[in-house]
Amino acid sequence: LSSSATVESSIVAAPTSGNAGTNSVFSHIVRAPEDPILGEGKPLVLNVVRQAEQLLVNDRSRVKEYLSITGLADFNKLSAKLILGADSPAIQENRVTTVQCLSGTGSLRVGAEFLARHYHQRTIYIPQPTWGNHPKVFTLAGLSVKSYRYYDPATRGLNFQGLLEDLGSAPSGAIVLLHACAHNPTGVDPTIDQWEQIRRLMRSRGLLPFFDSAYQGFASGSLDTDAQSVRMFVADGGEVLVAQSYAKNMGLYGERVGALSIVCRNADVASRVESQLKLVIRPMYSNPPIHGASIVATILKDRNMYREWTLELKAMADRIIRMRQQLFDALRARGTPGDWSHIIKQIGMFTFTGLNSEQVAFMTKEYHIYMTSDGRISMAGLSSRTVPHLADAIHAAVAR
Ligand code: PMP
Repeated sequence: LSSSATVESSIVAAPTSGNAGTNSVFSHIVRAPEDPILGEGKPLVLNVVRQAEQLLVNDRSRVKEYLSITGLADFNKLSAKLILGADSPAIQENRVTTVQCLSGTGSLRVGAEFLARHYHQRTIYIPQPTWGNHPKVFTLAGLSVKSYRYYDPATRGLNFQGLLEDLGSAPSGAIVLLHACAHNPTGVDPTIDQWEQIRRLMRSRGLLPFFDSAYQGFASGSLDTDAQSVRMFVADGGEVLVAQSYAKNMGLYGERVGALSIVCRNADVASRVESQLKLVIRPMYSNPPIHGASIVATILKDRNMYREWTLELKAMADRIIRMRQQLFDALRARGTPGDWSHIIKQIGMFTFTGLNSEQVAFMTKEYHIYMTSDGRISMAGLSSRTVPHLADAIHAAVAR
């Protein structure tokens, strides 16, 4: 005790100049830019989530014991079923390993760390553009990031030819990041036909699909429809990785609940893969949090709660589709120059307006409308009341 007290007092007694900042061992630290969009909204809590939480609170048998490294077993099984389908042969054949991770981001990171350690090709192709965190997550996990053409500014739609060319010339075995549905930030998804062509091309070149599923159910309003892209790749028997997030479709943003599934060729490989996933997770955060996963598992395993969830989800998706139509109609009514049909064609939470950064800055300054500088609007933040104001702002920005 006395010796540690001496050490402490000698630290306290160390000479300091009047200005604590200049003497700090951290004084050279440069201020990092703030994340432009994190934590901007106030999403509602779903009724079904409130119900599930009530059940959990009332259950006196529940304890706060650690989960295992891979998380809540029920949650993992139900998550795999949700994305791959209740009757998925891959699940029945025990070829799928699923681990609970920290929402979509954590699932991507764990998957990427696993690939960086154990997969023979360390290059991952991501769409251009993509969610801003993708390149950072993959680079820090030890993968080398390249991009493939995805969005065509001229049509405000998919650059399908460019996509096929770029994936067609990717080195054999390369990993390809695919947005399962509701591509962020563009809202542009391949059609089922195009997905099939992408699948064939990727399988013929041995490219490994890594799906990011952050909006299942949020795009079309149907959980099965929004999982079709993933299921097509699983149905051919080849390997697939998929990162799921419950942030949007259950409104569980801050609970950080998600899952990584790796579909393998057989049960033996799947169990060896799982053993290595544990070695990735254990030194990173030991084991995942229990509350969010318990909410999800409670809802997914109860038939009534599940149905209520799908209704609430459909209502959210339909509302977004209505907002798209209202915004499109409002621009038409104002005679705003340009073709705005992409607003109703794009899918999911975001509209990639095609407005440039000057127009965005103008709208922020003159109309106090905030969006990312690439012209992406969150449709979830729009209401019938605010559509006219937004349409006025877009009209003024474009007509300038
Ligand atoms: N992927 C995409 C495409 C996203 O848009 C997001 C969230 N904006 C995420 C992953 C990750 O979200 P979370 O970690 O909150 O689940």
